[in-house]
Amino acid sequence: MKILTVLIAAAFAMQAPAMSKNVQQYLRTSAPVIALTNVRVIDGTGAPARANQTIVLRNGLIAEVGDAARVTAPQGAEVIDLTGRSVIPGLVMLHEHLYYPTGPGVYGQLGESFTRLYLAGGVTTMRTGGNMNGYMDINLMRAIDSGQKPGPAIDATAPYVNGPNQFQQMTHVQDAEQARRHVAYWADQGATSLKAYMQISRAALGAAIQEAHKRGLKVTGHLCSVTYSEAADLGIDNLEHSFLASTDFVADKKLDECPGQGRGQQTIATLDENSAPFKALVQKLIDKRVSLTSTLTVFETFTPGRPLPPGLDVLTPQLKQQFEQTHARVAQNKDSNYLTLFPKAMALELAFVRAGGLLVAGTDPTGSGGVIPGYSNHRQVELLVDAGFTPLEAIRIATMNGAVYLGREKAIGSVVAGKQADLVVVNGDPSARIADIRNVEIVFRQGIGYDPGKLVASVAGRVGLF
Ligand SMILES: [Zn+2]
Repeated sequence: MKILTVLIAAAFAMQAPAMSKNVQQYLRTSAPVIALTNVRVIDGTGAPARANQTIVLRNGLIAEVGDAARVTAPQGAEVIDLTGRSVIPGLVMLHEHLYYPTGPGVYGQLGESFTRLYLAGGVTTMRTGGNMNGYMDINLMRAIDSGQKPGPAIDATAPYVNGPNQFQQMTHVQDAEQARRHVAYWADQGATSLKAYMQISRAALGAAIQEAHKRGLKVTGHLCSVTYSEAADLGIDNLEHSFLASTDFVADKKLDECPGQGRGQQTIATLDENSAPFKALVQKLIDKRVSLTSTLTVFETFTPGRPLPPGLDVLTPQLKQQFEQTHARVAQNKDSNYLTLFPKAMALELAFVRAGGLLVAGTDPTGSGGVIPGYSNHRQVELLVDAGFTPLEAIRIATMNGAVYLGREKAIGSVVAGKQADLVVVNGDPSARIADIRNVEIVFRQGIGYDPGKLVASVAGRVGLF
């Protein structure tokens, strides 16, 4: 039975393609058989950490995991002694981007550096949460899949599908038929996911969802003009920013009109997580199988009194200084709604999960900047612990839950024999001290071990240029 399970899982996992010279410069090891010994395993299912384990990686898959007394390193394996280290599953992060705000109203395509930073941070699978360009997400997904570039597996989202709006780099669909055509075009180009945005109408959103589902693609949304309840009725799969983009509680909300993100957020800031209307919305989302994405990292940058986010040193000096000025300005806003909204967002996410909802995690490197790929993924997990989740739950949300959303839970998301060898080696014990998740030493994707230091060094000080 156990062997059968392993074979079934292996059939869903993917072996690494031959790595190009370009990728090889970032490797720590690509031995065909590797034994990780004396390691603490945090398996991503929420189960307690297990000390003194051996993990055998063979041909890109996890061949065996178990007590050191039972599982020994095979003959000829490269043995890596991980005393004092922990292994968690590769992070599966679902609100990532390959672009970044570089100036007023301008979003620069930074996929080259971002894909390396994500992998360096232990992200082995990610969904891009919408894009401003279209082809970069799709082309990088293919280049990484074929071993031409280092990076996580990418669920590549098409350019945002949105109604008339103010963004210069976004489409404006006028009706349901244009929304359907947008989805069809980008799906034909190779996009594997769709994202609706704040000014879309119910009719356009419904058409986009229908077309995407017909093609087996999922749809998420950062909404405003359409309420969460309406989107659930239309069949949406996922909603971004947990409840922070909900306009369900704006009393005079007009159909198909965004009353402003701020107005929605005022109602969320004062929402009681034990109130009947909130509980009814949560139940509806659960009944309709709509998951929510927590992106606490981007909202932390809007909240006064929060620490500077990690990773700013990789930015170009101009972008780093630009964000530091933003951070200082935010700190002075003593009337900011985020002072109540940020802790409330955490409480509502916890309530959603305690009621049985599927929460997934992402970081959202947009906003006003400061959310740095790789580094912010660790911060997102830390913030889930601040929200009241145990470290084991937070790690599960950032690994297994993402795999479940993507429908890839048989191949990735936990440290189990037969699955793809997507693993992160961290120094310390994040099940006891979540900040240890920052101490990434090796990242395995499909059994290939990457050196995070080399990946970061290849972009340090230049993130913003490429
Ligand atoms: Zn986003």
